Amino acid sequence: MTGQVVQAYKFAMDLTPAQGRDLSRHAGAARLAYNWGLARIKANLSQREAERSYGIVNDDLTPPVNWSLYSLRREWNQAKHQVAPWWSECSKEAYNTGLDQLARALKNWSDSSKGTRKGKRVGFPRFKSKRKATRSVRFTTGTIRVEADRRRLTLPKVGTLKTHESTRKLQRRIQVGTARVLSVTVRQESGRWFASLTCRVDRNDPSPTRPDAVVGVDVGIKALAVLSDGTVVDNPHHHTNALRKLRRLSRTVSRRQGPDRRTGQAPSNRWHKANRTRNRVHHQVTNQRRDGLHKLTTELAATHGTVVVEDLHVSGMLANRKLARHVADAGFAEVRRQLTYKTQWRGGSLVVADRWFASSKTCSDCGAVKAKLALSERTFVCTECGVVLGRDLNAARNLAALVERYVAGSGSETQNGRGADRKTGLVPAGGCEAFTPHRDDSRVRRGLSPSNR
Ligand SMILES: [Zn+2]
Repeated sequence: MTGQVVQAYKFAMDLTPAQGRDLSRHAGAARLAYNWGLARIKANLSQREAERSYGIVNDDLTPPVNWSLYSLRREWNQAKHQVAPWWSECSKEAYNTGLDQLARALKNWSDSSKGTRKGKRVGFPRFKSKRKATRSVRFTTGTIRVEADRRRLTLPKVGTLKTHESTRKLQRRIQVGTARVLSVTVRQESGRWFASLTCRVDRNDPSPTRPDAVVGVDVGIKALAVLSDGTVVDNPHHHTNALRKLRRLSRTVSRRQGPDRRTGQAPSNRWHKANRTRNRVHHQVTNQRRDGLHKLTTELAATHGTVVVEDLHVSGMLANRKLARHVADAGFAEVRRQLTYKTQWRGGSLVVADRWFASSKTCSDCGAVKAKLALSERTFVCTECGVVLGRDLNAARNLAALVERYVAGSGSETQNGRGADRKTGLVPAGGCEAFTPHRDDSRVRRGLSPSNR
């Protein structure tokens, strides 16, 4: 598959203390601009609200403040001499970052309350706190350069920063002209600074080696994943150890005097210290797992023409407070996200089974569906045909079979009693929404929807 994609390259940074402070200052400037704009808009909204309550007609109200990025920026440029006399110490991109975040937040809120935005209800933006807000700045213009020594990055006003890893993969692309940097976001995560370079990249990936092959993937707890061909992909070996360590550290944190919103109790220094340690290990665990998942999804997209995953971990919807389950669920969303773009790059397709498709409870051999299957039951024993299988393997096989049946049946008109819906069939990413499962059709053909995210 050839084509242009927007893709990010993320590098950990090795900064001097002075450079770290400089970036923190930029992030602070972004936060200031955000809070300044929000305060203005809030004041304006409540002014209009109050005037309305006095019975003033709409035309005589104080005019509303425009919250597009363009006008926010214009207002800011007039106000900055008063609000932040030191504004020239930071790049203008810093203030732009904050105002852009605000404009987006307000748009999301207004779209959400008008009902034109999908998903969970978005509340009115809140002020960013100095202690809690993520420190980040986005540079879109000015000198953005990936240096030829593949070890350094140059940003406007901030100067040249050292990267922890080699930028070889990106730099090589820039050199031959198959990548162009659109913007750079510098962000502090768990105490460490990272730079994400959003690039437009000309990709030329080979097609999957087995374009007709179908594979079902069940993201597991014990193993990283189980494939429908019986392959068990193990977790990275140090991952289990780190997970145990994380569990221990979390216990320590909960024994310390933590913050309490109701009583207004401030956390102790010992809590802060333990929490920092815990967060660091948590970051490690996430990274190790993500690394494993990346290797898995790259491999899958390279070898199989069609990959099938579940929409949402059905068992994950049951309340399960186990840490391992929690981590596995996070990995599950990650697998889907990675497969979406990796299959697209290679011209393969990703199929997402409907969340009501009972992949764990269905027998992959005879198709009988169990009414109940406890989470603790790690082996699937069919009461109808007596087949004994690993729980995850059974689920993975059902996912793969879902597509195989689909492809085989796509010629007949009455496959699911709702012929029209089948048109939305095996479209690779970018297709249509899910179709509702047919009522009478309890066994196999619970809905099948192509991914479009
Ligand atoms: Zn069976």
